[in-house]
Amino acid sequence: MTELEADIRAAVRKLCEHFGDGYWREMDEQRAYPDAFVRAMTEAGYLAILIPEVYGGSGLGIREASIVLEEINRSGGNAAVCHAQMYIMGTLLRHGSEEQKRLYLPKIAAGELRLQAFGVTEPDAGSDTSSIRTTAVRTSDGYIVNGQKIWTSRVQHSDLLLLLVRTTPPDQVAKRTEGLSLLLVDLRDAIGRGVTIKPIRTMINHHTAEVFFDNLHVPYEQLIGEEGKGFRYLLDSWNAERILIAAESLGDGYWFIERTVQYANQRIVFGRPIGQNQGIQFPLAQAYANIQAADLMRFRAAELFDSHAPCGAEANMAKLLAADAAWQAANIALQTHGGFGFAAEYDIERKFRETRLYQVAPISTNLVLAYIAHNVLKLPRSY
Ligand SMILES: Cc1cc2nc3c(=O)[nH]c(=O)nc-3n(C[C@H](O)[C@H](O)[C@H](O)COP(=O)(O)OP(=O)(O)OC[C@H]3O[C@@H](n4cnc5c(N)ncnc54)[C@H](O)[C@@H]3O)c2cc1C
Repeated sequence: MTELEADIRAAVRKLCEHFGDGYWREMDEQRAYPDAFVRAMTEAGYLAILIPEVYGGSGLGIREASIVLEEINRSGGNAAVCHAQMYIMGTLLRHGSEEQKRLYLPKIAAGELRLQAFGVTEPDAGSDTSSIRTTAVRTSDGYIVNGQKIWTSRVQHSDLLLLLVRTTPPDQVAKRTEGLSLLLVDLRDAIGRGVTIKPIRTMINHHTAEVFFDNLHVPYEQLIGEEGKGFRYLLDSWNAERILIAAESLGDGYWFIERTVQYANQRIVFGRPIGQNQGIQFPLAQAYANIQAADLMRFRAAELFDSHAPCGAEANMAKLLAADAAWQAANIALQTHGGFGFAAEYDIERKFRETRLYQVAPISTNLVLAYIAHNVLKLPRSY
């Protein structure tokens, strides 16, 4: 780890100390959005870490960004409340026009504008993104958008929404991944004027929602990059997202291990610490080894991403291995805590629920395995 990375890690850890277990437990119980935490992270500049200095950010890489998010989860918090700005902004940075970047990035860096909602998934398309049905039809000065998204997280806590739409019908393109475009929707204008939001209550405190589009007018200037190339732009942000989610899972994994080792040392049953039993030690040691291995893949993927090298396989594998390792650690933590693992005041059950998400979102385990099978092992495509 470089000196800079060690400094970032220590500083984020210090900030997170102000938002302890009680804070996150209360947010979870009330299904509340942790405004104070997100504000503190924004004011400290951490959420602008990937924004180039010329636009007011720190101009650092995905490696440093991943350390920020890892530390949040490692402290017992949940980076999902604010992680999206980092990878959504990347699409604007890599594919937006200079005018769009100048208009939005400085305000995002300063915390005046929130870009942390990404509308890709639809109820009928699911993992098959190229089957989305939300359409954007060209008019003289923009697009008319109709359709529906589901699981659009933080949309109620965001000013802007990056939206995937179909601009050319699938039967008029050579490949179904063509004809998709990305629009940057200004929610401040759109809510109530073509956009309706319906929150979804989930087993975790995640602030996710269904979003309905009914003849929403989006000015032409809000198109990101070239029309019809949206799927290609998505791939970049997906790789960033996978690396960052891997880091969050690693943070969860370390949190479970640290808490559980502490508990196993303290809990006395049959006149000795339960951690003295190999039945307790070995699963913990195995989970720790798996977390360490996944951590290496996170840094490998980050290194490739930051040098603009192809990193789809590594980003997917990092996410797969880290999510699996965190879930393994979560199960061992619950088992080691016995009945107390189920008590809200120990926070194990909350983190257990939160860490489970990453087997399903932002991409489910099967789809990662399919990616590796098709693209790395060159096995016949199954879909
Ligand atoms: C809390 C939460 C927050 C989310 N936030 C966002 C967000 O902000 N923006 C956004 O766009 N989306 C978001 N999502 C959506 C998420 O990305 C999807 O849920 C995920 O990609 C899986 O899609 P699906 O739920 O439609 O499952 P499906 O596609 O219906 O899949 C269901 C199951 O079938 C398996 N499966 C499907 N096809 C195959 C196949 N060919 N081979 C093998 N197995 C297969 C899958 O692996 C999965 O286990 C969120 C989801 C959740 C739960």
